[in-house]
Amino acid sequence: MSIVILLLVALIVVLGVADIRRNLVTKPIFAVFKKILPPLSDTEREAMEAGDVWWDGELFKGKPDWHKLHAIPKAELSAEEQAFMDNEVETLLKMLDDYKIVQEQRDLPAEVWSYIKGNGFFAMIIPKSYGGREFSAIANSTIVSRIATRSLTAAVTIMVPNSLGPGELLMHYGTQEQKDRWLPGLAAGKEVPCFALTGPEAGSDAGGIPDTGVVCKGEFEGKEVVGIRLNWDKRYITLAPVATVLGLAFKLYDPDNLLGEKTELGITCALIPTSHQGVEIGDRHFPMNMAFMNGTTYGKDVFIPLDWIIGGPDYAGRGWRMLVECLSAGRGISLPALATATGHLATRMTGAYSYVRQQFGMSIGKFEGVQEALGRIGAYTYSLEAMRVMTAGAIDLNLSPSVVTAIAKFHMTEMSRTLLNDAFDIHSGRAIQVGPKNYLAHGYMGMPISITVEGANILTRNLMIFGQGATRCHPYVLQELEAAANPNAEEGLKQFDSLLMKHIGFAMGNTFGALFQGLTAGAFNSSPVAGETAKYYKQLSRMSRALALCADFSMLMLGGDLKRKEMLSARLGDVLSHLYIASAVLKFYEDNGRQVADLPFVRYAVERNLFEIGKALDGFLQNFPSRVVARVLKTLVFPFGIGYKMPADETAQDICDALLKPGVIRDRLTHLCFIGEGENDPTGLMESAFMAVHEAQPVMKKIYAAQKQGTIARKLPMDILIEKALEASVISSDEAQQLRVMNKLRFESISVDSFKPGVLSDNAI
Ligand SMILES: Cc1cc2nc3c(=O)[nH]c(=O)nc-3n(C[C@H](O)[C@H](O)[C@H](O)COP(=O)(O)OP(=O)(O)OC[C@H]3O[C@@H](n4cnc5c(N)ncnc54)[C@H](O)[C@@H]3O)c2cc1C
Repeated sequence: MSIVILLLVALIVVLGVADIRRNLVTKPIFAVFKKILPPLSDTEREAMEAGDVWWDGELFKGKPDWHKLHAIPKAELSAEEQAFMDNEVETLLKMLDDYKIVQEQRDLPAEVWSYIKGNGFFAMIIPKSYGGREFSAIANSTIVSRIATRSLTAAVTIMVPNSLGPGELLMHYGTQEQKDRWLPGLAAGKEVPCFALTGPEAGSDAGGIPDTGVVCKGEFEGKEVVGIRLNWDKRYITLAPVATVLGLAFKLYDPDNLLGEKTELGITCALIPTSHQGVEIGDRHFPMNMAFMNGTTYGKDVFIPLDWIIGGPDYAGRGWRMLVECLSAGRGISLPALATATGHLATRMTGAYSYVRQQFGMSIGKFEGVQEALGRIGAYTYSLEAMRVMTAGAIDLNLSPSVVTAIAKFHMTEMSRTLLNDAFDIHSGRAIQVGPKNYLAHGYMGMPISITVEGANILTRNLMIFGQGATRCHPYVLQELEAAANPNAEEGLKQFDSLLMKHIGFAMGNTFGALFQGLTAGAFNSSPVAGETAKYYKQLSRMSRALALCADFSMLMLGGDLKRKEMLSARLGDVLSHLYIASAVLKFYEDNGRQVADLPFVRYAVERNLFEIGKALDGFLQNFPSRVVARVLKTLVFPFGIGYKMPADETAQDICDALLKPGVIRDRLTHLCFIGEGENDPTGLMESAFMAVHEAQPVMKKIYAAQKQGTIARKLPMDILIEKALEASVISSDEAQQLRVMNKLRFESISVDSFKPGVLSDNAI
């Protein structure tokens, strides 16, 4: 007994007396820490330090404060933004014929270009003082989304100047002179921007671009000045073929120390008029046959003055951080907007088609196999809309949440890829035959582009979400790394010591918390709401605790190796991501007034998220290098096994019920989907057929009853059936006429395009 007391006293002295603790405990741990977590490279450090930690930080801490989630303001359009949606956007939509744009003209028509330029579509993020629209992120997202349901080409063309590009960089970092020089022209559409980072040798590894700028003296406007001699070779650059101003990223060197002592300054961004001598706008690419402008640019020994650096000479070498920060905002708006547009269009059209199209004597939407896919389409679209609104909302709070936007980019584009595949499977041949009637084909062709740009998806999932997320969102690790990098070793040790004690407390809390929640299945966790969704908050809190625990253990066991162990770390990233998606869904449900009709969508979405979290943790634990630690973690987190299941079939069926009939939930879920007027437009035709088939149901019921009684034969083609029913006085002549109109619409809506010999060889691809 006395030995135990003595040991306890010794422990209290060692841990309680700072100097003793620091020397005996912290110092050796600090040495090991430095060894297992090697110092960050400059680009890694800048990527991690750039941007903000937001709701992702809460999820990572293991104990999310759900009241904070609900307190995040709901992102909404202002009256002025709504008026732009109702007027300028609607006018533009009517000008777009996506089949002609993509398959025939391979460019936007001249009048569309001038409408876009002249009506501030390129100026959504530019302040009013420069003639811009100064719209919010949610407006930017909503506008791009709505346009994308009509034409991906138009949406991408509009999206680029409003996301990462000269405008965004100038507003954040430009000198007053640069803003005055460029922003009015960009706002008026007189200048068309592009931004060139990617080249043949550097895509994902954008920090490794081989393009150079060398500080030297040269002649500019007849005078000798200090400037930069540039050499670059870029590809894949959107809008390059029509750009008047080129944003260029390159590595800056100062061998003669004309700017200071440093000879390697690092990545730098400059704005160069494309008319400047030596700037070559090369050939046009043809990305997946899409018609937006995309191409190459290169230059050899092009001399530019120093003040063309964005932000002026003071910003020489600070380009990487600028790009990471601005990219993260763009990633949270543009690609999520396109992904959501795919959801709105696919949900509305596939629901309608599933009802209108009959096989084996009934709507294909009544077959369970189709319902499984249609249910997924609806639920993913609900999640997409929830994430779109919440993520754009963060940017409207002037945040640049780099991990959240990486989650949005990866998961939203992947969800849209999945649901588009489902939409294709349901439409079958109707979606395959390309022509003016096909409203899905161009979205499908363009899907790999969304997957590739702004951080290709494999890289985004495997490196950005957890690789950066773990360090960014963890309450202590980034500060511990900073302590390790402190050039003053004694100071670093002091910082580390205070962090270590907090970190140990955090880890202990997570260990016991995870076990308690595992044993009680999270039943004692609190929920900010009552009702059906309360149980989801409890489970998400439990899984947040599991993430915090597993993340700590993997950093402890694997250290710097964790970022190379992408298959492991990506699974932890998946856990964080699904916690975020579920949070967005629950918040969306609350923000929209807890509509009962939304419940099947919420149920499906959150249960799938929990299922995916269980799957990701299971995969993580199965592959964790230390089997002993894996077993301990599994016992702590899932003492009775992983109980999360995919949503029940009835949930998918409830969603289908909502999508197979006209109604408020269908309208709300697809509110961004463009539906053309009249039957000449493919979406308008499908919608008209859907409504007509519904409205004809009371009349059809009379016919079915007569068939049951034997008054009219069964299995007749529809046109003959209508006439037989009229002859037998089962229906009136007005009702017969209603059915004739319905049948015509139905037939046209399921028809596909065919082309006379020679037409395709002249025009299309
Ligand atoms: C249509 C289109 C428009 C574009 N517009 C622009 C533009 O306007 N301006 C601009 O500068 N660029 C633009 N890009 C470039 C785009 O950002 C790059 O294509 C993208 O960064 C990927 O580079 P890459 O294609 O060279 O692929 P690579 O970098 O060669 O990558 C190949 C694969 O390896 C994976 N990978 C690479 N590194 C890792 C890693 N560490 N861990 C896991 N996986 C990894 C990637 O995820 C990818 O799947 C555009 C591209 C396209 C296709």
